[in-house]
Order: sequence, then structure tokens, then C-alpha cells
Amino acid sequence: MIVVKSLEELSNNPFTSPFALVPTMGNLHEGHINLLEIAREKNFLPVVSIFVNPLQFGPNEDLDKYPRTLDNDLEILEKNNCHGVFIPQENEILKNIEPLEAPFADKLCAKSRPGHFNGVISIVNKLFQVTNPQACVFGMKDFQQQLIIRHLIKTKQYEIQFLSAPVVRDTNGLALSSRNNYLTSKERTEASKVFKFLSEIQEEIKLSFKKQKKILLIDLDTIKDNYVQIIENKGFKIDYLEILDSKTLEICQNNSTKILIAIAVFYKQVRLIDNLVLDLSSFS
Ligand code: AMP
Repeated sequence: MIVVKSLEELSNNPFTSPFALVPTMGNLHEGHINLLEIAREKNFLPVVSIFVNPLQFGPNEDLDKYPRTLDNDLEILEKNNCHGVFIPQENEILKNIEPLEAPFADKLCAKSRPGHFNGVISIVNKLFQVTNPQACVFGMKDFQQQLIIRHLIKTKQYEIQFLSAPVVRDTNGLALSSRNNYLTSKERTEASKVFKFLSEIQEEIKLSFKKQKKILLIDLDTIKDNYVQIIENKGFKIDYLEILDSKTLEICQNNSTKILIAIAVFYKQVRLIDNLVLDLSSFS
């Protein structure tokens, strides 16, 4: 496994093409490892970057306590036959960084984490420029992030193939996340209810759609309001629960085919996000 720690080393093109960049903040779990598989399935060598991006944390967020487990991460990557790892120095990455503004600034996570996606997009842009990958892999767990990175590639006209990886879950349904480490195992079991609620909402929309045939005939607001109540009664604090057109992040129209059901909750002060995408085209 090729481990690169500076921009100088990177300038010698240490990675074999074609490779896919897999940006992470470390503390790797099965969700990350699956991103490597997606890269390989598409015939790209996986190159993982590990960088806890300070620009994407708000002033009252968990930058200081975010789990940093580099030795273990390198072991995991080695075991999983990762082609390369890029562990940039913070000062090198932040130096002369082009500050970018992310689209969808008034949607979902951007509303409650102002500046978060500007931080993400600026760093990912820099990572693209310095590593020069032929592809990149991002997980659907961070749905809004995926849309934003696709937009970045388009507007900057990068020749980088975007690969999307499905959400990897624990056996109880909880979406894997480094932040799950803040919870006890009992709390994680409790937190897995979030996925059960998303699945119930999905089922309810699916059943109504089979009857009504038109998404606008379904009272999505009432479904949403009911579940906000149900979920809050179970001890979660809702940041948002939204049912939107997955392409535009706008409210659904009759031509919306993929419906995003997205949630962010606080549970024991830990912010958890998850989503499901319901494809209506198979029921039309
Ligand atoms: P992070 O290290 O949390 O910044 O995540 C790095 C990448 O891994 C992002 O593209 C995430 O969407 C992806 N990722 C994290 N957790 C999961 C998961 N449970 N399933 C799929 N992708 C994930």
C-alpha cells in the first residue's frame, strides 16, 4: 500500500492510474470499506484520503473529540488491499485554498450546519486538484454531500467519474457512522429505530402511491408531521425530517420519480443522519 503524506510526494504521481479517490475523515468502518469495493467493481484502484477537515465543523461541533485512529485505519486499509492512502498535512491542504460555496445552501443539513458544505466542497476540490483522480467514491449516507460533489465536478468540468455507494448498515439497520462511537451499544440499538421509522414512512408512501398513482395526491406533509411526533415521543430530537424530490431537493412534483426521505436527529446529543430513496418508477 502506497502511503503519501505530503504534496511533494504527491507531485511524483505515486498512484497507479486509473484510481478512484475515496475522501474520508478516518475512523474507518465497514461503510468506508465498501467504498473501496465500489471503486474496484468499476475497475479503479482505491486511494483513500484521511483528513479530519476543520472547515466542515461548526464552532459548537465535535472537531476536537472527533475520533482519530490513524494506526488502526492504516491496518484496516492494508488488510483490505487498498492501493494507496493520502494523509495530508493540515497546513498544506489549507494553504491558498479556494473558498467555494456549495449549492443547496437552504436545504437539509445545510440549514442547521451553516458553512458545513462550503468547508466540504473547498477541501474536496483541493483534494481533487492535488491527487488528480480518474474517479471518486462517495456514500449515499451523506446524500446532500453527493449532490454537492456532483455539482462541483460539473461546474469545474473535472474529468472525474462519480461513483455512488449505498448506505452500509448494522444488522439492526443503524447506518454505520464514526459518530456511533459516541453511543453505548444499548443506545445504538435504540438509535436503530431511526431507520425503522424511515422504512415505515417509505412503506406508507409506497402503499399510497400504488393506490393514488400520483405523488401529489399523497398528503406527504401529514405523513411527515405524524412521524415527527412519533419520533420525538421516542426520545429523539428532530433536526429535520423531509420528503423531497431526490434530484432537486425541492418538494415533490408529479414528475418526481425518486423520492428522498431524509432525517437528522439528535440522540443523546449525538447528531445522526440517515435517508432512504424510494424509486416510484417501478410502481407506475
Ligand atoms: P466520513 O469519514 O464520515 O467523512 O465519510 C467518508 C465517506 O464515507 C463519505 O463518502 C460517506 O458518505 C461515506 N460513508 C460513511 N458512512 C457510510 C455508510 N454507513 N454507508 C455508506 N457510506 C458511508
